[in-house]
Amino acid sequence: MMDIVHRFRACTLLLAGALVPCSLASAASAPADLVVVDASIATMVPGAPRVSALAVRGDRIVAMGTDAEIRALAGPATRMLDVDGRLVTPGFIEGHGHFMSLGETLGLLDLRAVGSWDDIVAKVRAAATAAKPGEWIRGAGWHQEKWSSLPAGAVDGVPTHDSLTAAAPRNPVMLEHASGHGVVVNAAALAAAGIDDRTPDPAGGRIVRDGQGHATGWLVDNAMSLAQAALARDRESMSPEARRAERVAQVRRAGADAIAKGVTTFHDAGTPFADIDLYRELAGRGELPLRLYVMVGGESNASMASQLARYRTIGYAGNFLTVRAIKRMADGALGSRSALLLEPYSDDPGNTGLRVDTLETIAGTGELALAHGYQLNTHAIGDRANRDILDLYARVWRGVDQPQALRWRIEHAQHLHPADVPRFGRMGVIAAMQGVHATSDGPWVPKRLGEPRAGERTYVWRALWDAGAVIANGTDTPVEDVDPLASYRATVTRRLADGSTFHPEQRLTREEALATYTRNNAYAAFEEGEKGTLEPGKLADFVVLSHDILQVPEQELAATKVLYTVLGGRIVHAAPAQ
Ligand SMILES: [Zn+2]
Repeated sequence: MMDIVHRFRACTLLLAGALVPCSLASAASAPADLVVVDASIATMVPGAPRVSALAVRGDRIVAMGTDAEIRALAGPATRMLDVDGRLVTPGFIEGHGHFMSLGETLGLLDLRAVGSWDDIVAKVRAAATAAKPGEWIRGAGWHQEKWSSLPAGAVDGVPTHDSLTAAAPRNPVMLEHASGHGVVVNAAALAAAGIDDRTPDPAGGRIVRDGQGHATGWLVDNAMSLAQAALARDRESMSPEARRAERVAQVRRAGADAIAKGVTTFHDAGTPFADIDLYRELAGRGELPLRLYVMVGGESNASMASQLARYRTIGYAGNFLTVRAIKRMADGALGSRSALLLEPYSDDPGNTGLRVDTLETIAGTGELALAHGYQLNTHAIGDRANRDILDLYARVWRGVDQPQALRWRIEHAQHLHPADVPRFGRMGVIAAMQGVHATSDGPWVPKRLGEPRAGERTYVWRALWDAGAVIANGTDTPVEDVDPLASYRATVTRRLADGSTFHPEQRLTREEALATYTRNNAYAAFEEGEKGTLEPGKLADFVVLSHDILQVPEQELAATKVLYTVLGGRIVHAAPAQ
């Protein structure tokens, strides 16, 4: 009955000479589930003009056009979303993050903005009240230089554990310093770690002690590992159900955070098979909070040789889970002077960095990737590591007919010798970069590399783009906030926190930067047929933004909020009314 009514209505529209193209008329065979009107829709189809409305049925966009054309596709049960002229873009695709680690980090007490030790103690007390006895309480991000004052009796600039112990007498507490080079723990954690007055300092670490020789709870560098090992032992003793519940909670937290920031697909950069099993189970029940594109990681070549075929998955559970990539690590990072360089660090002249996975291992992984139809995505930060991996890809591809079609990636591609820049475009190697790294690292990178090397070789987005490389964008979360708008802003402004700019000649335009976060990231996952642009037939993954980030002045970019996130036609995030 309903069908007849609507077919009749579609016919009437055509007879009345309404501006409804044939494709719209056929799309009108059933009413839309969701209609967005009074929008300014940047489809991200190159060269296409903006449109003002779109209609969704099920999880797909079925029509785009004028408000009148699209309103005509609504039925009595259609959800109408009038967005008051706001910008609509494709849902953001996080091009490189660590999904479970994000969920884990979000489960810690966030101590970054805390203004005093007493506030930290109060947070721990509240957490202890909610926790079961014996459960670890963890926090991260505190820094004593941010506090208004230091409590009396502090040793080595850090308060002793007494107040933490009183706040959580029955729970081990471990709070990581913002530098990552120390933790403060309470008495229960000291006991769990087996630390008493006679415990010697481990090599490369220090158990800080007061005037009487008692451990204060402040564990520096390698002494942290004593408390971390106790935590690891505790986790091993958890029941399988409790561990599973914890991992599911991580998935939910990571998903909620990403979705609130407009992310509808997440490239998970290095996931062991055990986590993929969990993703698959959740996806099968419709409980993955967003779409995951998974790179297998943390597995040996031997383990992958026997399991890659079984794990290969494309578009499972309504396009929520794809497993067809592998992650490897060529080197470390610039911050810790472990990125592998062609010439030594300027602030450490004997050091050219570290190899992580050997080239032999990565080449073996490359053969496995070819044999099993997987993409290979290798972390390479230093110019030596990037050159090695480009060379290695070329070697592994000998005999491959159209190697560009493999779309292999280099993750980060942070520091490149100018001679290697054109090779990305020529070889079809995708540069999977993070806009926000340029501005986070900008203050110290010139110290590591010296000028002009830092300016000529790091975060060379413009040079890569102009040389024909496909650039994917992301955040490497939880290293950075998963917020795509922050990374977009860094990509187009290169503005540091202090207001200065880091080599602004390497900026991308607004249009280009949005492409890196949408259709390029879709391409980098072989998903450009499903997402990355807004077109009839594609997945209805899109966001509504408070400001037009393609046009507003730079100062307004930072004020931009995600008003709605729509994933597969469902409104999964709506910002509170302004
Ligand atoms: Zn990463």
